[in-house]
Amino acid sequence: MLVPDMTDEEFRPYFEKAQQVSEFFREIGPKYDRENTFATPTIKVFKESGLGALPVPKAFGGPGGNLLQASKVISELSRGDSAISLAYNMHYIMVGIAGNLMSEEQNKYWLGRVTEGELMFGPFSEQRAGFSGLADMKAIPQPEGGWRLYGKKVWGTLCEAADIVTTNATITDADGNLPEDFQERVNAESFFIGEFKLDENGQGDGVRIEKTWDALGMHATGTQTVHFEGYYVPADGFICEWRTGAFGVLEWASLMFASIYLGMQYRVLEESRAVLSKKTLGATFGAIVAADTKVSGVGHIIDGIGDMASRVELSRRVLYQTCQELIDGKDDDWPIELRFPYIGLAKTFIADNVMHMTRHAMSMVGGGSFKKGAIFERLYRDSAASMFQPLNGDQSRTYIGEQLLQPEQLND
Ligand SMILES: Cc1cc2nc3c(=O)[nH]c(=O)nc-3n(C[C@H](O)[C@H](O)[C@H](O)COP(=O)(O)OP(=O)(O)OC[C@H]3O[C@@H](n4cnc5c(N)ncnc54)[C@H](O)[C@@H]3O)c2cc1C
Repeated sequence: MLVPDMTDEEFRPYFEKAQQVSEFFREIGPKYDRENTFATPTIKVFKESGLGALPVPKAFGGPGGNLLQASKVISELSRGDSAISLAYNMHYIMVGIAGNLMSEEQNKYWLGRVTEGELMFGPFSEQRAGFSGLADMKAIPQPEGGWRLYGKKVWGTLCEAADIVTTNATITDADGNLPEDFQERVNAESFFIGEFKLDENGQGDGVRIEKTWDALGMHATGTQTVHFEGYYVPADGFICEWRTGAFGVLEWASLMFASIYLGMQYRVLEESRAVLSKKTLGATFGAIVAADTKVSGVGHIIDGIGDMASRVELSRRVLYQTCQELIDGKDDDWPIELRFPYIGLAKTFIADNVMHMTRHAMSMVGGGSFKKGAIFERLYRDSAASMFQPLNGDQSRTYIGEQLLQPEQLND
């Protein structure tokens, strides 16, 4: 396990750096949302900021930031621009997941590269079924050792900036046949790490990017399709069995996603206050009949801002407390089967709240918020992405409900 050991004092300059980088994301974000492209100028800035190394333990040359410190940096970046930050969030997720599962030797090599500024990404989801679908991507064993990967990942966030790829594929027989038995197939699904060197056209050796990203929101993530067409992974690129490995450390995914949407909540509240504290309607006829109506004096606006701020504060507490409970090992007290969905509650809670807030912000600000270029329509579109990243609310509740309805659990 990664043992983070960064003090609050050591963390301070990282947070200040995150504030500066966040300002830069805020400035350039709207252009990349409009153009629907990855925000390329952020690569140099992010790499040089040193922020990417934050969760790398001191033993491997990093500062040893823990879950909560990573969460604070991600929320701060996201306050500036959630789409750009969601891209770099994939780096944090994969450093956390892979770093906790790799051998000492692998960590020395790969996290050493992260310490020098390199970026990781993690395309896992496939077309047939997203993250929870067993990998159709094949890892065919090679006579000289190692595997060649064949398949397609349709959600490759950060692929346009990454230097290192982590992914899952199912090990086949020498002829490329997937195991027929379900349990064997689960066991054969494996977690790999390797080089991700592409030319300026997105072409690499046995791997390439196809620019397919065109979605409602989160435009600047550059979530493209990644094709593996005989991509070679040497024997030392095997990390572990995917499902058993990943499920033990998925807090690095769900709590980092939660941090993105907490940062978005900060921004929704900030923008709503900025508009609603100043907006004047002049003479009105309707629910309020008056010669001069200032919206900051209207009951439902006062209540609305109070409601928003309460949701932000509750979300922050849920996220920070979940991070802290994991850091303190309190998750040992939870039923093991419920560890993953219980951790996921922070993300689903924050996702529900951010979507509520972006909609409510638009209704309070009024029709101007619906027009292109208004920050509120942007936040509304981007917040919808929070529904999908694992675990989603439906699947979390299914996990929990199924477990609690088993008769033997009633004795606990
Ligand atoms: C902006 C953005 C960026 C992303 N970037 C990445 C990335 O970098 N890497 C990556 O790997 N993925 C990425 N994803 C993909 C994402 O995390 C999901 O895997 C993807 O949305 C598909 O999974 P899904 O569960 O939403 O849909 P599907 O798997 O198609 O699910 C369809 C329905 O079935 C339900 N369902 C699915 N599986 C189960 C199950 N086992 N049990 C019960 N119900 C189930 C779902 O809840 C849903 O209702 C990204 C998504 C977004 C929105």
